[in-house]
This record gives sequence, structure tokens and C-alpha cells, in this order.
Amino acid sequence: MSDEANNTQVAPGVTEDGSERHLLSARKVTVKYDGIKEALHGTTLDFDAGVVTALIGPSGCGKSTFLRCLNLMNREIPKCVVGGDILYHGRNINTKDENLFELRKSIGMVFQQPTPFRKSIRENILFAPKRHGRIGSREEGDELVETSLKQAALWDEVKDKLDQSGFGLSGGQQQRLCIARTLAMKPDVILFDEPCSALDPISTFAVEETIRAIADSGICVAIVTHNMEQATRVSDRTAFFYMGDMVETGTTKQIFSAPKDQRLADYLSGRFG
Ligand code: ADP
Ligand code: MG
Repeated sequence: MSDEANNTQVAPGVTEDGSERHLLSARKVTVKYDGIKEALHGTTLDFDAGVVTALIGPSGCGKSTFLRCLNLMNREIPKCVVGGDILYHGRNINTKDENLFELRKSIGMVFQQPTPFRKSIRENILFAPKRHGRIGSREEGDELVETSLKQAALWDEVKDKLDQSGFGLSGGQQQRLCIARTLAMKPDVILFDEPCSALDPISTFAVEETIRAIADSGICVAIVTHNMEQATRVSDRTAFFYMGDMVETGTTKQIFSAPKDQRLADYLSGRFG
């Protein structure tokens, strides 16, 4: 590459307008369902590697809607229109040319209800990597199954029954299986939408530990939660949503100890929810 061409390049970690570059950034993102009602009014929020960001706010305020924008999941909903930019590694992915099959390899998602496939534990993990042609041999598959299950803190509980159905596991184990399945694709972002709301306290604790370890391994994590204790336990940053607006964001410590917006203060003191 010539020097001249080099000079036109944006420095690593910096966007074209000179601002700091994040792994994932939403810029003035709007969402309309059915072309009429705007559910999200222009949200700007950044996400970084190794950081857990919690999305909190009352039911119906747009947390899931926003989370689904980040891996273009709203495209599965007929007539749902998403505006604004979603920058992933500095590149806007909110374009009609974006290849969803490729994108979802790198931005994984875990839902409220555990959704294992009707397959063995092993095949739950290997399904997507096989579809993407990533498994060359039985040994490679075995290794990926083991490392993914270990990362999701499930290996010890299932290592002797990898060929049994994922449905035979408890709810909390199923959710960790879904996390392991997501990890098997080696994403650099994982989106969690209320991943513990169907789980008992012990399973919740196991999943929270797993989420923290995932972020500590360098993965960027966003988690929707209505559980304030959970947000304080697992997240580094918190963003508060209210009626389709992202009203306040900051470190989790600041948001919970010194909220600035009155609506956030009211929400935290349990006045609505
Ligand atoms: P939260 O996750 O914070 O509870 P949602 O993102 O699910 O909120 O919902 C935000 C708003 O968008 C609500 O008014 C909800 O009724 C509406 N909404 C969510 N999903 C759909 C959908 N598939 N079709 C139409 N409206 C929707
Ligand atoms: Mg929701």
C-alpha cells in the first residue's frame, strides 16, 4: 500500500470522525414496529470487549427491542424497521447487504427460555460449527465440545453423558448448554436477554458466574435484566431505558449509588417497575 493510501486510513481504535472506536456502537438507533409506533427513539450506546453492560428499565421500555438491534435480530420480525447505525468493529452493519448468517457467528444471543435443540448435548454444541464447516475431525469436535462446556461451567456435570439429550438437563443446565453452544462459535459479542428469569437462585448464580467469566475472557457482553441485584453483581456499566429512550448510562456503581435522572432514581427506589 502506498504512503498516500496509508495516510487516508483511520487509526486503530478511532472512528472516521475522530471519536474513540468501540467494539460495538449503536448510533441514533430507532425501531418502528408495523411502520407506525416507534418503540425506540434514537439510542446511542457503546459496548466494549471484556465489559458487561446491563440494560435495565421497566417492562416495555424497549430493552429487548434494542438488544435485538445489535445482531439485526429484529429483521426476523415482519414490518419491523430499524434506523440509525450499528457499528461493529467500526463498520455499519445496519445495511441491507449485511450477511446475517456470517454476522451471527460473531454476535451470539442467549434468550430468556433455554432453547436447546432436540439433539444430544454434543450435537447441540457442534450443530452450528458443523454448518459453518469448522469441524474437520472427530478429535476437533471433541475438543470444541469440551472447551465450550468448560467455559460455560457445565463440563463436570455432563461429561459422562454427552450423547444424551439436552432436554434431560435441568433448566439451569439447559441455559448453560445454550451458552456453551453460543461460545462454540467463538463470538466476540454475546447478547443475553433476561437469561436467568426462568431459573432458580442456584442456577441463576451459576449462570451469572459464567457470564462474568465470559467477559473476563475478553468477550463483549450485553445483558437485559429486570433484576437490580443481578445488574450490580455481573455488570461493569449500566444503561437505563425508559419509554423507548436510553435515559442514563454510566458505570454500574454510579448508576446505582448516584443516579442523576429522577426517573432512574424512582425506578431504583421501586416506585415503578
Ligand atoms: P422490554 O424488553 O423493555 O420489556 P420490549 O422491547 O419488548 O420491552 O418492548 C418495547 C415496546 O415495543 C413495547 O411497547 C412492546 O409492546 C413493543 N413491541 C415489542 N415487540 C414487538 C413486536 N414484535 N411487535 C409489535 N410491538 C412490539
Ligand atoms: Mg424484554
